[in-house]
Amino acid sequence: MKTSRLSGFYKLSVEERLKIVKEFADLSDEEVELLKTSKIGLDKANAMIENVIGTFELPIGIATNFLIDGKDYLIPMVIEEPSVVAAASHGAKIARVKGGFSTLYTGSIMIGQIQVLTKNPHSAKFEVLKHKDEIIEKANDVESSIVKLGGGCKDLTVRVFDNMIVVHLLIDVRDAMGANFINSVCERVAPFIERITGGKVLLRILSNHCPQRLAIAKAVFDKKAVGGEEVVEGIIKAYELAKVDIYRCATHNKGIMNGVCAVLVATGNDFRAVESACYAYSAMQGFKPLTHYEINEDGDLVGYIELPMSVGVVGGAKANPLARICLKILGVKSAEELARVIASVGLAQNFAALRALVTEGIQRGHMELHARSLALSVGARGDEVEKVVERMLKEGKISMSKAKEILEDVRSHSNSR
Ligand code: NAD
Repeated sequence: MKTSRLSGFYKLSVEERLKIVKEFADLSDEEVELLKTSKIGLDKANAMIENVIGTFELPIGIATNFLIDGKDYLIPMVIEEPSVVAAASHGAKIARVKGGFSTLYTGSIMIGQIQVLTKNPHSAKFEVLKHKDEIIEKANDVESSIVKLGGGCKDLTVRVFDNMIVVHLLIDVRDAMGANFINSVCERVAPFIERITGGKVLLRILSNHCPQRLAIAKAVFDKKAVGGEEVVEGIIKAYELAKVDIYRCATHNKGIMNGVCAVLVATGNDFRAVESACYAYSAMQGFKPLTHYEINEDGDLVGYIELPMSVGVVGGAKANPLARICLKILGVKSAEELARVIASVGLAQNFAALRALVTEGIQRGHMELHARSLALSVGARGDEVEKVVERMLKEGKISMSKAKEILEDVRSHSNSR
């Protein structure tokens, strides 16, 4: 009888764990080998998370054509979905015609939350505000590069609820994502807050909602390069649907996250944190699109994006050497610069998706890549791949069995020649 109750699994070596999983799931030797084949090294992987049995690979693609604030970037993107890298590059190419992307950043301020349970929330709020300077001083009383670099706790606010207050520490985390730093700041000041309020502190953790840490990007998409007036108007109409319809808005924003998450993963950032922040930011406005479009006096399409961007160029998963290489390719020096780049990628991605949707339809590009991957997976090689892809697209049947059938046909014809 198989059981997942594996006492002490975490104490085992990667090899030992793999042996157990191999038996449990009846893995072949080849499958085990593949799990063990690691670019970053199993030791490194084992130090990153718990119960490691291997590493998992995804493709790294490079999005080209990005001109952001006058600087050229090659953008590493890690993603499994076809068309994303091509679409981002295409969007950036069109943005380039009118000078590329210009960006803004509102600063690396994040919020740490301290929940205080109390029967007298207004009295607790009063005491916290009265001791504000002392709390901030205690929050920053730590040996940390963040504080040395001018970051740390800058301000605090208090929110009152029934039977509790929540203290918000406004913390400048400089070039880090900041979660660990903020959590330890919250833990450090909690006993003092308990003492002055007479309440009981429960949660002490960052908030992933960070509407004060925004990366904003703008690009002018030349009317002619976009495809003419009709396409520009089509994009505006598509955007208007996203503004009024949550079903469309969710997909609109997902398209943005295609680009955003791919860069987050490539650069070793916590993509769940940014995704959660982006959805919270959208929800804050009534679940609205994260991009906005207007037409300027020349008839060009002007796109804007506003994203909460809790990213870092230090800490977190930057221990992953592949993330460090991607950061090197990207050539960003600060969390601010990375945030500006990611916002630009999100805008390029969204613009390219909308343009494709209102013109030839996004499906063709997708289906072509899908057909290609099917052709490869049934064993097509060299020019067989093109032949299989072409016929599947022409016949409108894209499946594994169709790919196999066409490949056999292609081979039988070349053998009979
Ligand atoms: P971290 O703990 O590695 O801290 C960053 C470190 O870099 C600090 O020690 C800081 O002193 C140092 N540093 C050096 N130069 C710096 C500079 N110029 N600017 C800023 N710091 C500098 O990382 P973190 O950013 O505090 O935490 C991120 C990690 O926390 C991620 O792995 C994330 O997944 C995880 N996390 C997330 C959540 C959440 O999102 N809710 C909760 C817990 C943990």
